[in-house]
Amino acid sequence: MLIFESSKKLKKHLNTLKANGLTIGFVPTMGALHDGHLSLIKTSKRACKVTVCSIFVNPTQFNDKKDFEKYPNTIENDKKLLKKVGCDILFVPSVHEMYPNGFVNGTQVDFGFLAQTLEGEHRPGHFDGMAQIVYKLLKVVGPHQLFMGLKDYQQQLIVSELIRKKRLATRLVALDTKREKDGLAMSSRNVRLDKKSRKTAVEISKTLKWIKNKVARNKTKAVLTLTQQLGLERLNGFKAFEVEYLEIRNAKTLQAPASGREKLVVLIAAKIGGVRLIDNMLLN
Ligand code: AMP
Repeated sequence: MLIFESSKKLKKHLNTLKANGLTIGFVPTMGALHDGHLSLIKTSKRACKVTVCSIFVNPTQFNDKKDFEKYPNTIENDKKLLKKVGCDILFVPSVHEMYPNGFVNGTQVDFGFLAQTLEGEHRPGHFDGMAQIVYKLLKVVGPHQLFMGLKDYQQQLIVSELIRKKRLATRLVALDTKREKDGLAMSSRNVRLDKKSRKTAVEISKTLKWIKNKVARNKTKAVLTLTQQLGLERLNGFKAFEVEYLEIRNAKTLQAPASGREKLVVLIAAKIGGVRLIDNMLLN
């Protein structure tokens, strides 16, 4: 596995590969890799000749300074895991490498409601920071295909919009959420859960499944509204949770559902034991 710290050198190397007709797959991450990340790498390897993974804990997408400071760093183990699954190239830039002119936002894309609701409402500035770094990384790597997780549901919708608005020649492939045996969505933040919180954290995915079952045969507006309310009560019943939102939304626009016929997703964000977790599930 080749490791690059310099954008310029990586770009040059990839340009040679592209000139030789090789397809490039890209998996951007913030490290502390788990099987969810590795599933993206494996899919990229099957779809493209060369797979590039980046590890960069992006300061501009953390609205909570403590969350940024506590973000796990397991770089040596990450390298081992990436080698094991056959990742071809790892890009590990410094903050200065990605932001040589400071934290000015050069993306200048207005994502509108998509970025204002849910995570956008609870983590002001998060999506501007995320889109900014993804755009910078896409300009360096110029991948044919970009692999992201549905785990960060709103994020992949916004990146899809970024690609469309910036007319980038990259195809976004969004892949299913990898879960622990009990159903908890894999996340780099899970290592920060103490034993008790880890045990209760599973109730997030259980609530998602509970909602999916409840609306399986009837998705009228009244049923959706009632089920959302009951789902919220179910999760709030576990006193350890501080639920930020539990919402059933249109899966493409994230607007409140207009009818039961559209594609729907239920999304949850909740804190437990000082750790903020998100998860979601498609309902049809
Ligand atoms: P992160 O390192 O958390 O920024 O995530 C990097 C990429 O991995 C994003 O596209 C995430 O959506 C994806 N990802 C994170 N957790 C999972 C998971 N449990 N299953 C599948 N993909 C995931």
